[in-house]
Amino acid sequence: MSFRLPFIRPVFPSADALSADFQEIVDANWYTNFGPKEREFSAAIERYVGEGFHAVTFANATIALVAALHVRLGRGDGTRFVIVPSFTFAAGALAIEWAGYRPLFIDIDLADLQPSFEALPEALSAYPGAVAGMLLCNTFGMGNARIAQWEDAARESGLPLIVDSAAGFGSRYSDSRRVGTAGDCEIFSFHATKPFAIGEGGAVVTTDADFAARLKEFTNFGFHAAQGAVSLGLNGKLQEINAAIGLRQLPVLDESVAARQRVVRQYRDALSESAYRIPEGLYSSSVCFATLVAATPELRDAVLQRLRDNGVEARTYYSPPIHLQPQFVDAQRVGTLSSTENLVSRVLSVPVYSDMTGEEIAIVVDTLNAEAATT
Ligand SMILES: *Cc1c(COP(=O)(O)O)cnc(C)c1O
Repeated sequence: MSFRLPFIRPVFPSADALSADFQEIVDANWYTNFGPKEREFSAAIERYVGEGFHAVTFANATIALVAALHVRLGRGDGTRFVIVPSFTFAAGALAIEWAGYRPLFIDIDLADLQPSFEALPEALSAYPGAVAGMLLCNTFGMGNARIAQWEDAARESGLPLIVDSAAGFGSRYSDSRRVGTAGDCEIFSFHATKPFAIGEGGAVVTTDADFAARLKEFTNFGFHAAQGAVSLGLNGKLQEINAAIGLRQLPVLDESVAARQRVVRQYRDALSESAYRIPEGLYSSSVCFATLVAATPELRDAVLQRLRDNGVEARTYYSPPIHLQPQFVDAQRVGTLSSTENLVSRVLSVPVYSDMTGEEIAIVVDTLNAEAATT
């Protein structure tokens, strides 16, 4: 089915601009393996995130997550746990298993949709000595307002804090720090569906130069100098053409984020407040889409249908939550994950484009409000 308003409508550089880039790549005869475009792109990411940060690019964020967990925690033997919220994209939990650990699912806070900080001490006392690290997720790319508390807890417990900010390149924390600057490292996805889109791609950002060097070695078969493989690496390298797209996208990122934030504020101003709640963190994020919490599951289900009937593609991320997906049904949980299960029956996400027109915004808003008025 094709929608009048598809869920994602990325803006990519023009074919003309990209054909010039491709010609340069052909002239350089350098298509991948940290060529000139990749080197320029990773330096540009470093400048964007801020002074003192190292960026290592990857073919996608999932490989980057595996790399960060493997390099920072060491290879697991399948017995120890990494804390992760269930209300996120499955890639993080899959990466935990690839790195040789078991996901230990925690709940979220209904107020901000972020991983529950209160679940941390509960996890540590329920699994003494068995927790190897924390994979915090900045839900929908929104900066976690309690990030400083998580960082303090990481320091106190000695546990690595790896932050999955896949959709959050261009977002800010509530103290206006850029997302990308927290924990031991943060991971970004540059997938075509994210606010900063290059096709397939990702990066890990960290202040630790030695960690960055080991991540880069990981993406290149664990090769070091002339010795060949010195560690358990993979091939996770970013191609030149994707780096070239990134170099075209980065200069317009802040402008595109501002446009997307304007759309969310227009949604907020026009939507029935008693029917739909927008999490606060969305307004300072790069806004991959607009997530709404409907007042009731009935309203959510009915409005999904009405949106579809009106040609608007909406989604119910992250439903099912990871702990209910077949690969993870036997995984351990902290508590009952009741907030997660409550949320997934009421959550929906509607499109936000950086070039969204007033008429397009009105279609979404009118459909949402019309259903709220009848339910
Ligand atoms: C998109 C996403 C990923 C996966 O990123 P890829 O680049 O597609 O591998 C991981 N985690 C979260 C939270 C995501 O939203």
